[in-house]
Amino acid sequence: MNIAIAGSGALGCGFGYMLQKNGQNVTLLDYWEDHIEAIRNNGLTVSVNGVKGTLPMTIARPEEVSGEKDVIFVFTKAMGLEKMMTQINHLIGTKTKIVCLLNGLGHLETLEAFVDRRNIIMGTTVWTAGIIAPGETQLNGNGPVELQNSHPEEEEAARVIVNILKDSGLFGEYSKNVKYTTWRKACINGTMNALCALLDASIEQLFASPSIDSLLGGIIDEFAAVAKVQDDIEIDRDEMIHYLKEVASRLGSHYPSMHQDLFNRRPTEIDFLNGAVVEAAEKYGIEAPHCRRMTDLIHAKEAVLGIE
Ligand code: NAD
Repeated sequence: MNIAIAGSGALGCGFGYMLQKNGQNVTLLDYWEDHIEAIRNNGLTVSVNGVKGTLPMTIARPEEVSGEKDVIFVFTKAMGLEKMMTQINHLIGTKTKIVCLLNGLGHLETLEAFVDRRNIIMGTTVWTAGIIAPGETQLNGNGPVELQNSHPEEEEAARVIVNILKDSGLFGEYSKNVKYTTWRKACINGTMNALCALLDASIEQLFASPSIDSLLGGIIDEFAAVAKVQDDIEIDRDEMIHYLKEVASRLGSHYPSMHQDLFNRRPTEIDFLNGAVVEAAEKYGIEAPHCRRMTDLIHAKEAVLGIE
């Protein structure tokens, strides 16, 4: 299959590498000059769970590539999705499937401004990835990647992509309720990630706090209220706290991605997490003071650090 990775940073390179290694015809798209040059000169090096490999790969700026793709994985940060969609318009044909695994809320609506819902496959992943240097990244974990078609008649197409991910060692799984997994992932990012970022704490340190249940609970209640009204998704506060503690016990001294964003002086995805909950809550007449305060504090921290 002709696959493009629209946004070939940490996660995009990991996925592109695994797919190409399994025989797919992958084109990496990005605009980061040093990264492009490094991959063109030396190939892409990815360390997958500590095992390092290098593959020659095609990488280009979106405008340099032509021809319709079969599948495009979008892998920008949430705030870069809309711009990327305008830049890859010429690669999207009537049958091109767009797969979106971005963290955060509201991406289906963004994609629908560019692509028919029939061609949108939404999902989540718990793979973790990082950039080591231009042309070199790491991918850790064992998935899964949960996917579901956004249009009821496109299940077969989603299952084809799930199988490609499975065959490539990325542990694809067909999800019967991707909206729930999206909300659950957003809840993790809007609680654990945002709190670690604000407190400059590792996951272990955050969960050792005596007020952890109350810190998590206040935010979860607001995610749950909006998820119910907007998508008819049930999120149970106690179940979610239990799930977060279980996830935290596996991740230990790790610093989540939002913490790393601030540390590396990059803008966070807070507007697509707690910020999106605040916006939706206003629309539905729901109070969301915890999410509002988290959003304001993260933006204040970005400003303190000089991040634009
Ligand atoms: P990243 O910043 O490492 O990669 C994004 C890449 O997109 C960058 O290389 C950037 O140059 C490129 N890009 C952005 N806009 C572009 C444009 N218009 N044209 C060309 N290139 C463009 O981000 P990431 O860590 O790979 O995360 C991607 C998404 O996946 C985010 O939503 C993130 O929350 C989610 N996610 C990440 C991880 C992780 O561990 N990294 C895990 C799960 C989900």
